[in-house]
Amino acid sequence: MRRSVYLDCQATTPVDPRVLDAMLPYFGERFGNAASRGHRFGWEAEKAVDRARRQVAELAGADPREIVFTSGATESNNLALKGAAEAYRSRGDHLVTVATEHRAVLDPLRHLQRMGWRVTVLDPGPDGRLDPDRLAAAIEPTTALASVMHANNEIGVVQPIAAMGALCRERGVLFHCDAAQSFGKIRFDVDAAAVDLASVTAHKICGPKGVGALYVRRRERRVELAAQMDGGGHEAGMRSGTLNVPGIVGFGAACAIAGDEMAEESKRVARLRDRLLARLSAALEGVAVNGSLASRLPGNLNVRFEGIDASTLVTALPDVAVSTGSACSSATPEPSHVLLAIGLSPAEARSSIRFGLGRFHSEDDIDFAAGRVIEEVTRLRQRALRIEHKCSTMEDL
Ligand SMILES: *Cc1c(COP(=O)(O)O)cnc(C)c1O
Repeated sequence: MRRSVYLDCQATTPVDPRVLDAMLPYFGERFGNAASRGHRFGWEAEKAVDRARRQVAELAGADPREIVFTSGATESNNLALKGAAEAYRSRGDHLVTVATEHRAVLDPLRHLQRMGWRVTVLDPGPDGRLDPDRLAAAIEPTTALASVMHANNEIGVVQPIAAMGALCRERGVLFHCDAAQSFGKIRFDVDAAAVDLASVTAHKICGPKGVGALYVRRRERRVELAAQMDGGGHEAGMRSGTLNVPGIVGFGAACAIAGDEMAEESKRVARLRDRLLARLSAALEGVAVNGSLASRLPGNLNVRFEGIDASTLVTALPDVAVSTGSACSSATPEPSHVLLAIGLSPAEARSSIRFGLGRFHSEDDIDFAAGRVIEEVTRLRQRALRIEHKCSTMEDL
């Protein structure tokens, strides 16, 4: 088989074999429903869920009772934003967010706007970071909640959430953070960042797809949420539905591994990312990094190649799996809303590629990928030159 390298770890990651091993028994003999109180099948499942809840909580510096299991970060964002808006309606009519948020935050907020909420969408600086002072200035007496992601899924830029959380707490505004990209890769601590609500997901940290959690603060202040799914009253009434026990077990295992290995792993992955950038910049002209390089996830590199159409480049690289934007928006030909929000022109946004590195990459993978990208960018540029040359000679005639 021809070699191919997966470099799209901001879209999803492979399941760690240790996570899969932890999950397998819960598809087999330990199949019980965690809500069955009358027999050992139920107790066994409940015990496994409790353990996973402690593992997820520990990685976030939370209390296990503050963890609500969901189907992933999209659902967590919906539950946080719509659930808090409904519960706090009497306290306000205004919400604040940032233009570079994931669709799973922007779309629920658009929904709330249709329901009568006023929504302020702030633009970050050209480095992708939002100045906390700009957030402070946007807060009004009737602001109920602010939602700012920790790390961006396209450009990997890390927001100064601790300063934002502190100022939201001071102003009596709920603070929600979409931490889907940062959780398990860099330190994310619900107390250090003073978050009231935080969304996380398993499949970005080598866990299974279809399982995530919402952190809902109970200590200091007890955050109220209106359930968006009515039913059996699971998860303290905040999210009904039979728990995905194997998925939750896998999520717990993925958190335990991420917690143990983060310190080493983040350094190793950052070195690989820097190696990739160094190779590309050494061999090619017109390579520019999108967003702050210093304040960025270790496993993200988003670069533009001057004069190159990114989707043509992706097609020319069947053996290097990269993306032109987020997995959710790459189906549309529209340039990335994140890249436009940090001030890129549509043409610059269309010449940008996202590389997502992670746990299973080696130096050799990175060298292979860099070599292939350099080859194809060079070939596409030479082709463009030939076409230009042909056109000009025709004009000369
Ligand atoms: C992946 C991602 C999501 C969506 O998570 P799912 O678990 O796939 O629903 C939301 N926000 C960010 C920042 C993400 O990277």
